[in-house]
Amino acid sequence: MGLQDHDILLLDGATGTELDRRGVDVGMPLWSARAMIEAPEILESVHRAYLEAGAGAIITNTFRTHERSLAKAGLGDRAEELTNSAVQIARTARDSIAPQALVLGSVAPLEDCYTPDLAPEPEECRRAHGQLIRRLVEAGADLVLVETMCSAHESLAAVEAAVSEAADRWGICFCLKSDGPPGVLLDGTELADIVSALQGARFIGINCVAAPVLADQVRHLRCLVPEGLPIAAYGNVGHADEEGGWVCTDAIEPARYADHAMAWVEAGASIVGGCCGTTPATIEAIRSRINCQAE
Ligand SMILES: [Zn+2]
Repeated sequence: MGLQDHDILLLDGATGTELDRRGVDVGMPLWSARAMIEAPEILESVHRAYLEAGAGAIITNTFRTHERSLAKAGLGDRAEELTNSAVQIARTARDSIAPQALVLGSVAPLEDCYTPDLAPEPEECRRAHGQLIRRLVEAGADLVLVETMCSAHESLAAVEAAVSEAADRWGICFCLKSDGPPGVLLDGTELADIVSALQGARFIGINCVAAPVLADQVRHLRCLVPEGLPIAAYGNVGHADEEGGWVCTDAIEPARYADHAMAWVEAGASIVGGCCGTTPATIEAIRSRINCQAE
């Protein structure tokens, strides 16, 4: 399945920002979930573009298909339908371009990313994530990807839900602080204090951290997890400034991003890809670097 062997598994890049680039309205509160309603063919073309660029796994557009998120747009009763449709669109693209590729079902924080204080109570996290994970599994996602987790209690609730709904077919990625020592969740919890609670994960990783600072984080995580356990790393191309604006780093250039990705591999990651702001060109650049290394 690409996780246990010594190969590098290449994930896809961003879906939300890529839909935006292709003209799909990704306004809040629906964000990328609108694509299943208004532009399913563009969503499929994004998945296809990543597979054509060489991705060995694509991530479903289910970042905002929790019933709780959709309810904010008056669409709570369509959660099951939209989640199912997102998985089917990904599977259709996969089956036609790269049948051996994996479809990973994305499970994101229930409230805004980067704001751990907004995470609901543990019981609600467990219920809401459990509902989405069950739907992802039923719709045929190969593995569940709990990602961009920045609050310890929400992460652990999502893990509990994943264990009960997806058995051993799940992995988890955290969003960590970029300043200060490595391995600290946005809510201040040290990864070292919660890794033992992640028993059963097929991989553990870090995502949506600025690409240039991710290698140090991977190196730190490598020391925390068992040797055989794959580490995933997929960064974004910039970071927010103090006024809430967006500052792009050199990772905006696909070739530079690929340099960073190879540094994550060097640091111990075996699953790499792109988060916010990355494009099919980013994934293509990493693919050619991986292929070169294999020769
Ligand atoms: Zn991101």
